[in-house]
Amino acid sequence: MRVVFLGATHEVTGSMTYLEAGKHKFLVDCGMEQGKDIFVNQDLEDIPVNASEIEAVFLTHAHVDHSGNLPLLYKRGFRGNVYATEATANLCAIMLLDCANIQEQEAEWKNRKNKRAGREETGPIYSMDDAKEVIKLFIPLPYDRRVRVEENCEICFHNVGHLLGAACIEIWLKEGRQSRKIVFSGDIGNPGRPLIADPQPVDKADYVVIESTYGNRLHEKSAGPTIYMNQLAEVLDRTFKRGGNVVIPSFAVGRTQELLFFLREIKAEGLVPSLPDFRVFVDSPMAVEATNIFLQTPQEYFSDEVRAILEQGQNPIFFDGLNVSVTSEESIAINSDPDPKVILSASGMCEAGRIRHHLKHNLWRPESTIVFAGYQTAGTLGRTLQDGAESVKLFGEDIAVKAEIVTLENTSGHADRDDLAAWLNGMKQKPKMVFVNHGEDDSVNEFAAYLHENFGYETFGPYSGTVFDLLSGEVTVETKGQYVEEDTEQQVKSRSLFDALNSAIKRLQRIVTAMRDHSNKEIEKMTKAINELADKFEPQEEEEK
Ligand SMILES: [Zn+2]
Repeated sequence: MRVVFLGATHEVTGSMTYLEAGKHKFLVDCGMEQGKDIFVNQDLEDIPVNASEIEAVFLTHAHVDHSGNLPLLYKRGFRGNVYATEATANLCAIMLLDCANIQEQEAEWKNRKNKRAGREETGPIYSMDDAKEVIKLFIPLPYDRRVRVEENCEICFHNVGHLLGAACIEIWLKEGRQSRKIVFSGDIGNPGRPLIADPQPVDKADYVVIESTYGNRLHEKSAGPTIYMNQLAEVLDRTFKRGGNVVIPSFAVGRTQELLFFLREIKAEGLVPSLPDFRVFVDSPMAVEATNIFLQTPQEYFSDEVRAILEQGQNPIFFDGLNVSVTSEESIAINSDPDPKVILSASGMCEAGRIRHHLKHNLWRPESTIVFAGYQTAGTLGRTLQDGAESVKLFGEDIAVKAEIVTLENTSGHADRDDLAAWLNGMKQKPKMVFVNHGEDDSVNEFAAYLHENFGYETFGPYSGTVFDLLSGEVTVETKGQYVEEDTEQQVKSRSLFDALNSAIKRLQRIVTAMRDHSNKEIEKMTKAINELADKFEPQEEEEK
């Protein structure tokens, strides 16, 4: 009985873990690596068995860094079941199709370039058909119901906030007469969010795998969601007084619905005296679909506040003056209408999508405001604007930044260090070992140390390829489908160093790729140097294995 850590090890994307008990083989999450060459660099080669041998995937939530490679797993031969909560299954149905669509478009664009350069054509990493087929394999389950998946495996989902339908998963495994229980936290939400119910602790487990995105940081607790709402109301009021638009780059799934909830409250409480009947445009086909899924989801998924609203027969994220745009004609019409309004559009970091058109039409207007309601990764257009750029390039045009730029406080969808620890401490019995994943190096290391020093947990931050035997408690390293005994300490150390260097290169590549848009000669030089370093590094990796 063993667990093999594959992805989100000392990094935050590509969540995937392999589980084996007796002859049964499972995956927990099958996420996409995000960052450099997102559309070509995905591989599932680290899974120790063929995709067709995997009997089931247990999915924590719908974000693509946890679910985005399911269609690829299908393409490689997986035909088992995907167990997820009902809301996760519904959200995946739109998100995986969107992902496949982007990849098909990207491949088409690349192939036009390949053709002109006389290079061979390549296909997308997976197609819309792969996505459609894997969606058929989903088995939706409610929260808190223990279900037998195989003769020797039972699972149970519990709410952890973070995103509609997000769950931690309790997994009971049996091999012969022995049994073990392992819990995967998934991504744990920031408690006290307006829409989704707070994370629930789990009773007990032998082993826990916990995320650590904010494992070494604390959120500003005084800035709760109410402050976020009041701050937003003030921004709306002063922007409308100036006759401008409020443009909010927003993730289509999750953040958009949270903002709609606040906008409804702001209207209901009359917090915008300059324009009480303000109009709101949701300009993203996926946001519109996701909003419909939120509206069809059972009450148990939501916070007490939302349940109370639903019980009064009201709609928590719909109000008079809300307009949705699905077609591109509807989208274009928003900018020819001169009246002040709120525009919510994707992508959340302004790297793609319709938001870029709205920025083009509003950034140069001193009367408009751009509001950031989510984390902006270094190197994205969103971060460039947050950092005070005076001009940016959009669609090949230089656009002056004259609009007001505002960042709302405490909007994180992830629990901070103390809330992560509180979730773990909610267990009635201490696990034998806590594995820390889903965090950058510093977060993993510091959170693991924090848990050990302050609460006495045995902790471990596994690297990709680490194998843990759930019966004997032994750690080994998986290479190309075989066990290799960890015979010397030196070997373990060099393996760790190797992984650390590799993940540092990946991280640099991500930063540089994101910066390339706003590039100059120096960045190009740096890109070249990093790519050369990575190339040098790759063949060595093969040799070591
Ligand atoms: Zn997530």
